[in-house]
Amino acid sequence: LVSRENHDSRTVVSVRGVPIGGDNMTVIAGPCAVETPEQTLEAARMARAAGAALLRGGAYKPRTSPYAFQGLGEEGLKILADVREKTGMPIVTEVVDAADVELVASYADMLQVGTRNMQNFALLQAVGDAGKPVLLKRGMSATIEEWLMAAEYIAQRGNLDIVLCERGIRTFEKATRNTLDISAVPVAQNLTHLPVIVDPSHSGGKRELVLPLSRAAIAIGADGVIVDVHPSPETALCDGPQALLEEDLDELRDLAGTLATLS
Ligand code: PEP
Repeated sequence: LVSRENHDSRTVVSVRGVPIGGDNMTVIAGPCAVETPEQTLEAARMARAAGAALLRGGAYKPRTSPYAFQGLGEEGLKILADVREKTGMPIVTEVVDAADVELVASYADMLQVGTRNMQNFALLQAVGDAGKPVLLKRGMSATIEEWLMAAEYIAQRGNLDIVLCERGIRTFEKATRNTLDISAVPVAQNLTHLPVIVDPSHSGGKRELVLPLSRAAIAIGADGVIVDVHPSPETALCDGPQALLEEDLDELRDLAGTLATLS
């Protein structure tokens, strides 16, 4: 179902009217985690300034340590919905448990499946049934074939509104959090009709890498980027060191805009 064979055209996924795929370069931005209404609204303003049409933000956070901030849960979803109301930006948010899919889908415009859950097949089937577009991150130790098979689980439920997201894979290299597998973008685009975007924030794990990796993603033909922004990264409850600052936003907007002009 997700293979390029038997599909004449590339899929364009519409998230409440915002297209991902085709000739578009879609920027998704927002805080790693929803913390407060003020922080989320301010992050949405930053996301807009960075050229983002969609707002990201986690209310359910899959953290390595059980002692780390796990997200606000439904309270976070309510904050996101309120910020959507105020800004008009559709929201992309992660769901980590099949049992929560219905609840998260009742607030979200796009459901994110994170790297740690890429092969959580019960979750994939549940998001496939939810009737919302899905952002499927690549498992950090998954091959491209395994990633596409995970997408197939969603597609099998009758949902082809799937966007793939390359977010770095685990290698021997320690200078970055994960290694952005930039070649995965054209490889996946050759194998599937689904749009492929890049997460330069979670792959590099460092603010100074986000713009260079975004440049690489845009140059190689990715259909978009998903980027962390935070109004005060030094106090962020999750992944502050990779969040872009105010002074970085113009450059990201210009990068995405340049490509939109070219295409
Ligand atoms: C995220 O985007 O908030 C996230 C946790 O990403 P990943 O699943 O790629 O680590």
